[in-house]
Amino acid sequence: MLLRHTQKASETIERKALTVNPAKTCQPVGAMYAALGVHGCLPHSHGSQGCCSYHRSALTRHYKEPVMASTSSFTEGSSVFGGQANLLQALTNIYAIYEPEIVAVHSTCLSETIGDDLGQICSKAVADGKVPEGKHIVYAPTPSYVGSHVTGYANMLKAFVEKFPIKTDEKKRQINLLSGWVEPSDMRELKRIMAMMDVKSVLLPDTSDVLDAPMTGEFQMYPNGGTTIPEMVSMGDSMATVAAGWFATRDAAIALENQCKVKFTQTDIPVGLKATDRFIQAVAKEARVSVPESINVERGRLVDALTDMQQYFYGKKVAIYGDPDNIIPLTEFLIDLGMIPTAVVSGTPGKEFMKRMDALLGDIPEARYLNGAQADMFLMHGWIKENPVDLIIGNTYGKYIARDENIPFLRYGFPILDRIGHSYFPTVGYMGTLNLVTKILDKLMDKIDETALEEKFELVM
Ligand code: SF4
Repeated sequence: MLLRHTQKASETIERKALTVNPAKTCQPVGAMYAALGVHGCLPHSHGSQGCCSYHRSALTRHYKEPVMASTSSFTEGSSVFGGQANLLQALTNIYAIYEPEIVAVHSTCLSETIGDDLGQICSKAVADGKVPEGKHIVYAPTPSYVGSHVTGYANMLKAFVEKFPIKTDEKKRQINLLSGWVEPSDMRELKRIMAMMDVKSVLLPDTSDVLDAPMTGEFQMYPNGGTTIPEMVSMGDSMATVAAGWFATRDAAIALENQCKVKFTQTDIPVGLKATDRFIQAVAKEARVSVPESINVERGRLVDALTDMQQYFYGKKVAIYGDPDNIIPLTEFLIDLGMIPTAVVSGTPGKEFMKRMDALLGDIPEARYLNGAQADMFLMHGWIKENPVDLIIGNTYGKYIARDENIPFLRYGFPILDRIGHSYFPTVGYMGTLNLVTKILDKLMDKIDETALEEKFELVM
């Protein structure tokens, strides 16, 4: 559908400033998702109602859960004269009606463009008594004409870290775990891994039991999950921080180190065998524990399954797009499986992406990769036309390319708008990787079944 009528396989269209179907969404979506991972927190969008509706619906459509957020509801007047009065009035209403513990304010393109200073307005709100005693306000600038939803997530995570952790004289035998953008089920899996390793940890943010909360028959404005304020405060006394996901967590980890002298180790999100190994080693080192046998058993189970599957992956070409924190370890894993990532695209800017991709794909002549504004779905489709692949992995937006080119398609990442249930099954850690690799193999084997000649159609494959 993207290039069906406009581009042939042999054509490459040169562009300098045009983005067509970006492989990202806007900053406030990420800020909202991070804020939902804090218990009792209400995300607040400082901009027009339309922006807030879009951000909420993007999250609701992916997680299939109601996403609560408020808005400054800019009108023509606030767009010209500034939105301070709207935000101050909004805060009065929000604390009185919705009773959150924290309001997490993020900006939008409009409020940034007219020059609203969130820091100044939030300080004034506190000075004017708009924030009741014992309640809190945090803010993060999230202009959507730079960065992506991942940048917004990172900015809001940093805002929480700058606000709450306090260093006291009492060192706590716990580590901080800053999580990049993963599913609620992944966050639950990270906590399960910490428990298996007997490591006390504070996971921030934690959207488990928020965006996958059980049906109880009663509406809960603030579900049971989410990192609590006391937990965030205690992060200043932790032994160390493990930050999983360069793009989403690095700024927050640096801020926490500067503020409370809590050293950090940067790792990838634990997707795939090697990335999970590095993550487990980082946790073991920082928490000063040894890796328990139960973790080794899970690793061994994954390795055993990969050995059984490996023959089907070897030499298969794959196109991947999405958020850098997810697709960097995924690319590494697919190479380990014997696959050839020939097209890798991320709409999120940042030099780390090309550095990591150079290291992973630099020796594969047919691999093409790019991030930033022009690393869009248009580019991805063009590359796939030039060098067809056996599998596409990415969010829902890839379904048009997959349909046009008749290529198996695995939905992975954010957003997934046209399937249900994905957010309940983790893809991090050894068990999550087993879940992910099984889905990848299913796609490839389904294609074999679909296209097999009658005499080659096998019961046992
Ligand atoms: S105007 Fe900006 S903040 Fe609002 S939805 Fe569009 S990109 Fe996002």
